[in-house]
Amino acid sequence: MANSTQDAIAGTTADALYQTERYGSYSYKVPVTAGTFTVDLHMAEIYSTTAGARSFNVSVEGQVVLPNVDLYTQAGHDGAFDYTVENVRVTDGVLNITLESLVDNATLAGFALYSADGKLDTSVPEPTCSGYVAITYDDGPSGNTGAFVNALKSASLVPVTFFVNGANIGNNSAGIRQMLEVGEVQSHAFNHVDMGSYSAAQVTDQLSRNNQAIQNAGAPKPTIFRPPYGTLNNTIRQAASSLGLYSITWDVDSQDWNGASVSAIVAANGRLQNGQVILMHENQPNSLTAIPQIAANLKSRGLCPGKISPSTGRAVAP
Ligand code: ZN
Repeated sequence: MANSTQDAIAGTTADALYQTERYGSYSYKVPVTAGTFTVDLHMAEIYSTTAGARSFNVSVEGQVVLPNVDLYTQAGHDGAFDYTVENVRVTDGVLNITLESLVDNATLAGFALYSADGKLDTSVPEPTCSGYVAITYDDGPSGNTGAFVNALKSASLVPVTFFVNGANIGNNSAGIRQMLEVGEVQSHAFNHVDMGSYSAAQVTDQLSRNNQAIQNAGAPKPTIFRPPYGTLNNTIRQAASSLGLYSITWDVDSQDWNGASVSAIVAANGRLQNGQVILMHENQPNSLTAIPQIAANLKSRGLCPGKISPSTGRAVAP
């Protein structure tokens, strides 16, 4: 149960913290990593006006740290009372704070955790995914690679798939290594050419040179190929297949290459359904700006970024 007061609180400048309370017998179970914590407990008697009207026990990690505490006796009516518990060792992933009512209700206005070696465990609970979509960026690496990687990390929009051109790698393998921090590097042919009229040998030359450039830059041998301009025919498919590359295009074209606005790119991602793949480009600033909104939109729809299956070309769990 919760209660609050408008009264000023003595003994603190943080009146608002002490003006609300949660009362009764109850526990907090705070998910944390293993570590040693300091727990600051913040309390105030904002209800009773006499000694003996309320008393309770406070336990941290099963140990009673404040037995039979009477806040009125400690700090009077509307007075801040703080208690610090040091060296709280947590090994089970949960820091427990338990209030046990003795006379009237136990009460706590707030608490704070500090630790040199532990922290709140934000990995719990695991997010649940009702489906997976493939976020892809073509035509890198470029001068934008670092910015994309940082934005993807901070929005937790990972993993993604980069389809790269070996001609863009040059002597700069740093871009490929950055890409690997947030996903996979796959093939977009060595040069950004339309291979619609290419012979099998010409296609094979483009794809094998690109595989080599990607591997030389430190990435695994590609398993998926997206042709420049989406140009696919049987010659291209077969040449790719003989090099171990599954050919795909996309389900949704963000049109970022065609001047689409940030909101249009976000909306295009909003049309993705489970298993689908979207086309974006690493040299398009609007696609960079769109990253946080894309992440929020997918999350609101219960969809998670996935990887592309090299056997089906569909987005699957990473
Ligand atoms: Zn391209």
